[in-house]
Amino acid sequence: MRTSLEGQCILVTGSSGGIGAAIVERLAAEGARAIIHYGRDKDGAEALLDRIAGRGWVAQADLSTSEGPFELWRKSVDVAGRVHALVNNAGIRTEISIDASAQDWKSAWQKEFQVNFFAAADLSKEAIGHFKANGGGRIVNMASRAGQRGYAANAMPYGATKAALVNLTKSIARSFGADGVTAIAIAPGWVRTEMAQEFIAAHGKAAAVADIPIGEMAAPTEVAELVAFVLRPSQASLNGATLDVNGGSYIR
Ligand code: NAD
Repeated sequence: MRTSLEGQCILVTGSSGGIGAAIVERLAAEGARAIIHYGRDKDGAEALLDRIAGRGWVAQADLSTSEGPFELWRKSVDVAGRVHALVNNAGIRTEISIDASAQDWKSAWQKEFQVNFFAAADLSKEAIGHFKANGGGRIVNMASRAGQRGYAANAMPYGATKAALVNLTKSIARSFGADGVTAIAIAPGWVRTEMAQEFIAAHGKAAAVADIPIGEMAAPTEVAELVAFVLRPSQASLNGATLDVNGGSYIR
């Protein structure tokens, strides 16, 4: 077992399943303790804590509320004392047509921005303050290919939130390096999780993989491995980049 992350406490939002759970497992395998954040799936979060031999904590917070992100940060510091890194992984993908009512349209955009972007910005604010006062830290934002190349007509809020996350990452990287705070965005194409399953159920697998040169979605473990790599203390200069994990479906 590699222990490159020994001694680190890392908060991973939305980690009771999907990519977040794979991230927690990988971080634990490399020696870190994880704060497993969940919104509703308490059983999933506790089962994951068991799988990593209790090397961490679980913390609940609803990131669709304006107080949720601040509450989560407080809980994280309460249990861990010092937090070394924040992985803003929680996210939703809502389908909304331009033919929807104005009310449905506005509420879809507002919820998508609250969960995918405002929660990450609020947690970053709290984390940066904590990192500055405690010798530094790192932020990883789970963006998406959708934020880089634009997105489908029926899910425009999703792409917009992810583009905003990439920009936030760059601002943090430019602004707080002198305080020992660095930030990275990861931009996956399709990854085999519940979010992808919902898309496949509605639109078919061919629609998801048609424009991926390697012809397959990524496994959550691929993304998880990259997050662990980014958080290694040896990666001191990796700051401000957006790392693409998309099978060649968007090449910059
Ligand atoms: P998922 O649906 O399996 O997991 C999303 C997580 O976010 C869940 O744990 C969920 O509980 C949490 N979450 C959602 N709303 C919440 C709320 N209101 N309060 C608290 N937690 C909440 O999806 P995933 O595929 O594992 O996605 C993880 C991240 O990766 C997301 O940010 C997603 O946008 C991004 N991403 C996914 C894919 C993909 O194809 N699966 C591609 C690119 C980017």
